[in-house]
Amino acid sequence: MTTIAFIGLGNMGLGMAANLAKAGHEVRALDISKDAVANAVTAGCIAANNAEDAVKTADVVITMLPAGRHVSLVYAGEDGVFTHAKADALFIDCSTIDVTTARNVNAQAHDRGFAMIDAPVSGGVGGAQAGTLTFMCGGTKEAYTRARPFLDIMGKNVFHAGGAGNGQVAKICNNMLLGIHMIGTCEAFNLAEKLGLDAQTFFDISSTASGQNWSMTSYCPAPGPVENAPSNRDYQAGFTAAMMLKDMRLAQEAAASAKAATPLGAQSEALYALMEAADKDDLDFSAVMKLIKGTL
Ligand code: NAD
Repeated sequence: MTTIAFIGLGNMGLGMAANLAKAGHEVRALDISKDAVANAVTAGCIAANNAEDAVKTADVVITMLPAGRHVSLVYAGEDGVFTHAKADALFIDCSTIDVTTARNVNAQAHDRGFAMIDAPVSGGVGGAQAGTLTFMCGGTKEAYTRARPFLDIMGKNVFHAGGAGNGQVAKICNNMLLGIHMIGTCEAFNLAEKLGLDAQTFFDISSTASGQNWSMTSYCPAPGPVENAPSNRDYQAGFTAAMMLKDMRLAQEAAASAKAATPLGAQSEALYALMEAADKDDLDFSAVMKLIKGTL
């Protein structure tokens, strides 16, 4: 049994912490929301009152927080994890955050003698609950190897993407590609329909031809062809347009700093931002189909 501090017990963190507790670890739960901590206690965790209480006996600290500023604050802020963690503690940040912050916090951890990896996930709330997440990890091989047994409890596929921040790079590049091909798929289905070709027939042809892609075959934005796709339940999420927009913005920020041209990424970000402006970003990201059709 390992003592694990788990900080950030929201939609994702709760299921992940519950799975670690179920596996027999002592999980010390910390969140600024009292309800989140109460839910974690119900799921088998122990409530912690503050960062010191959470981390002072922990061998491993796992964070699942909204954005880079929360991660910086929790680790490097006054009275944060760095101040109170055991000298040989391992830190695993599973939040999706900007590459620069991920690398900065990792460097600060290293400077203080701690081991740390970034380990953002895909698989959503369902994957967090079921323990079937995919982890994309950045950090030293040694830190990754130490983290692996805990990641294996929370996930099904675990990848080491290279040095610090490379987990975040893999995550945002993958999601930028997903965001782009979802929009292209919407445009193709909408054009087909306007020209008199129904969604199912176009799907049958294109899903076996060169236009085939995941957004079409597993998550079709046109109602009908893929039974369990959000388009068949009025675009209830799933993966919200708000979460997609967050990842597209992270990708654009990273592209600017790396001087990488991502014109389609920029255009796609602008389209998901229109869903936010219309106050429809709580719908699944495949509801960008409604934007393309003019029915949002
Ligand atoms: P969430 O908002 O539901 O949970 C975040 C939790 O962090 C909240 O309970 C909040 O109270 C807590 N928190 C914020 N600041 C804190 C602080 N200073 N100290 C302690 N706790 C604090 O978010 P979520 O949906 O669980 O997502 C978490 C991360 O996972 C995000 O980075 C998100 O991009 C990523 N992610 C989410 C999904 C998804 O489907 N929800 C999928 C993949 C990745």
